[in-house]
Formats: sequence, structure tokens, C-alpha cells
Amino acid sequence: TAYERINTMTQPLRTLGLLGGMSWESTREYYRILNESVRDARCGLHSAPIIMHSFDFEDIQSRQRSASWDELDAILINAAKGLENAGCEAIMICTNLMHKCAPAIERAVNIPLIHIADAIAEHIKADNLKTVGLLGARGTMQEPFYRERLATHNITAIIPSNDDCELVHRVIFEELCQGKFLDASRTEFLRIFAGLQARGAQGMVLGCTEIELLITAQHTPLPLYNSAELHAQAGARFVLDESAHKAAA
Ligand code: GLU
Repeated sequence: TAYERINTMTQPLRTLGLLGGMSWESTREYYRILNESVRDARCGLHSAPIIMHSFDFEDIQSRQRSASWDELDAILINAAKGLENAGCEAIMICTNLMHKCAPAIERAVNIPLIHIADAIAEHIKADNLKTVGLLGARGTMQEPFYRERLATHNITAIIPSNDDCELVHRVIFEELCQGKFLDASRTEFLRIFAGLQARGAQGMVLGCTEIELLITAQHTPLPLYNSAELHAQAGARFVLDESAHKAAA
């Protein structure tokens, strides 16, 4: 009704904190999607209230390479606390791999963390899929933290062979995170999709926020779960406080 519409229009937007720059190639997609979602929902000049801590990714990635995860926890916690103190009402880590630090951040701050794997799982469940392929940084694929989070939603994620995990990891850091999108790499990824599909994958989780810049629905008939897009949309729902709106309606 018109009354509900006015209610929606006047409900204040919530402020979101982004841990970004990992890489900025995908963080700018978060920024775009968050703002477009708020504009589409509220019209006019409305845009998403965002505070971002954007890292020097070389510094972050060199600590990933040396497996300095205690340092990475501390660095992200420090930034998350800064966002909380600055008035953010929720936090998002704008990368899949750095969700390895999510439990430490959740313990350190008093505002919710919107988890990327939960945002993806919601859509996989809505499509009634049980088994998906997972492509991402080496750690996202091979360490338990990410697949275990999907498993809490009863989703089984299968990963490429060791050699193909290395290939995907190399393309992410040497190409995609540096703004290079090559046809040859897309062809390799599609070959890897086919292998995962043959092993039972019903859809593909693009579990690195830059893969969706290389591969889109036009390249494959398989259902794609774009981590940056689905995560940013979940963030927009928080900004718009749609749960509160639904409760009021
Ligand atoms: N953007 C990639 C991801 O979503 C790599 C990020 C990283 O190394 O933190 O996992």
C-alpha cells in the first residue's frame, strides 16, 4: 500500500563496514552493487551508507604466502574495530579467503559479520542443489574452513584436482586480481567446471570475488553462484533493514 511504501522510504538506512581492497578489482563491484541496490529500492538520490577500510593487498597477500594467519587476524580485527567505533552496524569481509579470519573478528567486535558463505548457501538452497563445485584461492578450496561453513547448510562442495587448484590459484593472483582477464584462462576454468560437473557438481560456486569478472552466465549453462554479487546483495538487504520492514508490514 501507499502507506507501507512511505514507511519503507523513510526507514533509516543502516551503515555497513567493508574490509576491502582484497583485491580492489572486486571491491569496486561491492561498492557498485550496494549502491545500485539501495538506489533501486529507495529511488532518488539514495545510496548505501558505507565505511570502508581498504588494504594494500600486497601486504595482505605476502602474509598469506608466509602463512602468518595470527598477524592477519590481528590486522583485520584492528580494522574491524575501527569500523565498529566509526559507527558501522555490520561488517563484511570482501573476499572469500580472508573469511579464515571471520571467527576471530566475530569474537572481537559486537556487531554482526555478514558471512560470504552464508549468503551463497542461501541461494544454493533456494535452487534445491546439494552438490556444487568450488573454485577459489588455494586455501578456500583445500582448507576446511570454507567447505565446512557450506556443510552447515547441508551443501557438499567438491574441488578440482591438486594441479587444477594450483592453476586456479595462480590465475586469481597473477591475472584476475591484477585486472587481467584472458580468454585462455576462461577456457581452462570451463574445462575445470566440466570435470567437476562429471563428478556430480550441479552448480559452481565462484568462491573468489574476482572470478565473476572472468566468467558469467553467458559462458556456461551451469548455475553460477557469484560470491561478490551475492555477498553484496546480502549487505544491501542489511542496509535496507528489510527484516524490520517485513516485520512491520
Ligand atoms: N578475492 C579472492 C577471494 O575472494 C582472494 C582474496 C584474498 O586473497 O584475500 O578469496
